[in-house]
Amino acid sequence: MNTALKMRYHRELPKEYKLNQITISKSHNKYFVSLSITYENKALLMSKENLNINKAIGIDLNINDIALSNQSLIPTNSKNFNVAKYSKIFQRLQRKQSRRLLKSKKEKTKLSVNFKKTQQRINKIYEKSANIKSDYYHKITSKLSNEFDLIVVENLQVKNMTKRAKLKNVKAKSGLNKSILDTSFYQFSKMLEYKLTHNGKFFVKVNPQYTSKTCSVCGNVKDDLTLKDRKYICEKCGNTIHRDINASLNILERGLKSFGLGISLEDYKLKAFRVS
Ligand SMILES: [Zn+2]
Repeated sequence: MNTALKMRYHRELPKEYKLNQITISKSHNKYFVSLSITYENKALLMSKENLNINKAIGIDLNINDIALSNQSLIPTNSKNFNVAKYSKIFQRLQRKQSRRLLKSKKEKTKLSVNFKKTQQRINKIYEKSANIKSDYYHKITSKLSNEFDLIVVENLQVKNMTKRAKLKNVKAKSGLNKSILDTSFYQFSKMLEYKLTHNGKFFVKVNPQYTSKTCSVCGNVKDDLTLKDRKYICEKCGNTIHRDINASLNILERGLKSFGLGISLEDYKLKAFRVS
């Protein structure tokens, strides 16, 4: 093939690099070109000592927004990304497919051409919403990793364990939201991690327990805080704040503490288990 083809770059290439290998792959009728390159990374490794505290941020990822400890909220648009998947048309297609599968199993016949066509349509919808989401995440994580030198997030695995226990008796819908949240959180924090470490910056994961229930000003733990409470109102010190921003401040504080840079609050665990 000698024709020039248009292609879309997912990332900028560095100014000087040595090309090692080009791999072309095909997925769902699309071609992907992966370039393996070697280049000199001139990013300066940051040290704990020269870290500017104003360039440190805590992030709390939620279904609807990403809360930052600098008091800002970034919409996740997660509902938009999943609109196609949970639309009536899509669900109708999936029901149709399962009926066809059942029929072919029962009658021991081969799957029809129409089955394959519908499956291609379904895959396309999945792929499209996944691509839009990952593009959007790339934009946010690039911006954040350029702007900040230390980013603190919650440790996903621990969060899973604590959430699973609570979710047992909650409606199936929350389970669905939760799975979206888990995969998104994982994808998002992986992107942040490689972008920050690539630039010689810091990425820290902290224990997620009580990040929502703890007051970011006085450290008081509000055990009756529910998911419905959008505002965190502290009875002890009067602090009134967006619940997710409150959490992001606690996340930042824990991250800084692990660097020996934090303002010392009493141990959140001691507070949480104290019977008042
Ligand atoms: Zn308080």
